[in-house]
Amino acid sequence: MKKYSCLIIALISISSFAQNKQSNNPKPSTSSLKPKLVVGIVIDQMRWDYLYRFYDAYRADGGFKRLLGDGFSCDNTFVPYLPTVTACGHACVYTGSVPAINGITGNNWWDNKLKKEVYCVEDKSVQSIGGKSDDGQMSPNNLWVTTITDELRLSSNFHSKVIGISMKDRGAILPAGHAANAAYWYDGKSGNFITSTYYMKEEPQWMQQFNSKKVADSLYDKNWNLSLPRNIYQQSCDTNYSAYVKQLYGKEPVTFPYNMQQFKGKDYTKILSTPYGNTILGELAKTTIASEQMGRHEATDFLAVSFSSTDYVGHAFGPNSWELMDTYAKLDETLGSLFDYLDKTVGRNQYTVFLTADHAGAHIPEFLDKHGIPGGRMDDGDIKKELNSHLKEQTGIAKLINAVHEFDIYLNHTAIDSAKLDEGSIKKNITQYLLKKEEVLNVVDKQNTSIVPTKIREMIVNGHNPQRSGDLIIIAKTGVMDAGKLGMSHGVWNTYDSHIPLLFYGFGIKHGSLKRETYMTDISATVAALLHIQMPSGCIGKVIEEVIK
Ligand SMILES: [Zn+2]
Repeated sequence: MKKYSCLIIALISISSFAQNKQSNNPKPSTSSLKPKLVVGIVIDQMRWDYLYRFYDAYRADGGFKRLLGDGFSCDNTFVPYLPTVTACGHACVYTGSVPAINGITGNNWWDNKLKKEVYCVEDKSVQSIGGKSDDGQMSPNNLWVTTITDELRLSSNFHSKVIGISMKDRGAILPAGHAANAAYWYDGKSGNFITSTYYMKEEPQWMQQFNSKKVADSLYDKNWNLSLPRNIYQQSCDTNYSAYVKQLYGKEPVTFPYNMQQFKGKDYTKILSTPYGNTILGELAKTTIASEQMGRHEATDFLAVSFSSTDYVGHAFGPNSWELMDTYAKLDETLGSLFDYLDKTVGRNQYTVFLTADHAGAHIPEFLDKHGIPGGRMDDGDIKKELNSHLKEQTGIAKLINAVHEFDIYLNHTAIDSAKLDEGSIKKNITQYLLKKEEVLNVVDKQNTSIVPTKIREMIVNGHNPQRSGDLIIIAKTGVMDAGKLGMSHGVWNTYDSHIPLLFYGFGIKHGSLKRETYMTDISATVAALLHIQMPSGCIGKVIEEVIK
């Protein structure tokens, strides 16, 4: 008996020793494994090379130099699908998925099932909140997969707060995902940030107050002056480009300073195509963080910020303009001020930032031409008109083309079938017609993509969805774009449209850079790994391991 009691005492002491040992090494709480806040930043139309081409415009205490100096830069990140446009870019960054899977095949598409034009985030079943116009009838309902922000909400039993903000509706809605607490976008008619009944019945008090301040008016008051000495712009940019850029601000000549006071209290759309669109959004980001206590909850919060004015200014003036360089100089200040604010409120190294772009952009064809570099223009609308009249001549049937978006040609299958036409011959006819054009490199039947190099082929396949894509796609010659008569655009496979910046900074992020190729689809996969949460449901990207500590 005595023997047994000794054994029992010994067992008890071993087990209590084990317990003590356990309590000396407590399991780390999950909150120390995660940042308090993730700030996802998308700069609309930012080319990767702007990090370096405009380096002299960035301040030591600004945003870009902080990310480059202390963060991690993936220097060869590419968009892996077509078309390289805003809606597809925001959807891909936040879903790690491509149009073929996530359903966002363009800013607009012809829906082969619904037989009508669709805008990427339109939703007539919801109403505007915060403004009277129908610009609020928007939701993420056309997006078929989850976002990294949805996954964060799911992982925390919806305790994580997720908010998307942008000057563009699609720039706020697609990143915020399906289960967001809110998405707010700018309404140029009222100058207010609005939302829809998809998210809420009424805007919070703080947003109503922000709107009533009419920040746009105080920015218009400053006019648009250059931030830096003129020689810095002269070094990096074209000096005579007024003949081929868009005049956006009334009848004024294309030269600094621009008179913005003329729009005060009258026209709130003009602010979009000035650097001040980014300034307002930077202010809204700080107000959102303060008012919603972002980064001060038990669970990780997520603020998705998409700066759109870089795209508007880029389209009008092009990558080699003083206007664009100055827009980046001012954006750098806005980013610097946002990071300082995050340091103060959430705490340095308590938040993680990633910064990328939804797509890049091309040089203005006439600017290229001035220097003997190939380029050109070809218009989607003109192609549709021409093809329809050519096919009518050939077959006697009108409107055999439903739509052309980003050189993607949607056949009218109903008309083809009811006239008992042979689809193969129609496609052949279109191809032969288009190949005669100077600007066309090739015309690809989506059923047979093997006729183009692997890189282009992959981008076509990743971008193709039978319900929301066309049947034939034009691959234009290098430098050719759908941009009207002035300014520039983007949307094609070439590196100038598909090479984007990708920077990570803050909690859990190493310092360094990477030269190997990475993809836009890898962003969500990497953020999921950092947050220890599931990747989005349609994610095809890979974790960029080098980034994470
Ligand atoms: Zn654009």
